[in-house]
Amino acid sequence: IKITFTPVLRASRETIGLILVLQDVTEEEKLDRQRKEFVANVSHELRTPLTTIKSYLEALDEGGAMEEPELASRFLQVTRQEAERMTRLIHDLLQLSRLDAKNVQFHKQALQPKEILQNAGDRFAFQCRQKGIRFQLSIEDNLSRIYADRDQIHQLLDNLLSNAVKYTPEGGCVTLSAQQKRDGFVEVAVSDTGIGIPKKDLERIFERFYRVDKARSRLMGGTGLGLSIAKEIAEAHGGSIHMESELEKGTTVRFTLPSCEPEVNQP
Ligand code: ADP
Repeated sequence: IKITFTPVLRASRETIGLILVLQDVTEEEKLDRQRKEFVANVSHELRTPLTTIKSYLEALDEGGAMEEPELASRFLQVTRQEAERMTRLIHDLLQLSRLDAKNVQFHKQALQPKEILQNAGDRFAFQCRQKGIRFQLSIEDNLSRIYADRDQIHQLLDNLLSNAVKYTPEGGCVTLSAQQKRDGFVEVAVSDTGIGIPKKDLERIFERFYRVDKARSRLMGGTGLGLSIAKEIAEAHGGSIHMESELEKGTTVRFTLPSCEPEVNQP
């Protein structure tokens, strides 16, 4: 709390009172702290792949790895992976900053959610099969149309589905489902039977760069920004997003999007 005193003076400059202002700066300080943390995180996240690239290139250049073609090709592969990680990170950062600045041009139109969900399902069914994960699609027939930007909703679904695939081991199951809610919203859920998230991490999971296990996320090629982008997109459409999870049992992320024709959905 910030406290300021201002004396109240008579014309004769005699003090006749004091104005005491108590200002709650908790929110302000929180935002300031978050901003500083974000800059520190970005720097760290960019420096880590750069350091790796530099050391592998040095090893190739000076360490004689060039003479061993197999080793050289492995080193080059690592540098390429790290460069790709940086590209993904910068892509995600740019998207977040555009969403933050509210200058994303949303091309919202009336869309059939079923079609979008089936489309996402098709893309991920293949990835799941490759990893030995069962994929289920469960979409209600009576979904009303949503007023949304197709590309943004694709991105939102991609972020959630790619997490579900990433954090679910072979033999598991990923489900994409959707249902009409009575309050004029369509609710979409992405569930998995993967590693889950500890209770203590759940409330911070949508924060930028927040990760349960940094090493695992890096290993999976993650940027730590996927869920925060998903949240921004859902909220920019007038919806909301929530996560439920149980460690070693699985995770469900639900988000809602408003229907175009709310009057049709009234009970
Ligand atoms: P990342 O690029 O690290 O996956 P996200 O923002 O998409 O970043 O997710 C943040 C963190 O939330 C992940 O690092 C992971 O710890 C956790 N997480 C997200 N989705 C899942 C999931 N389906 N199952 C288990 N953990 C998850």
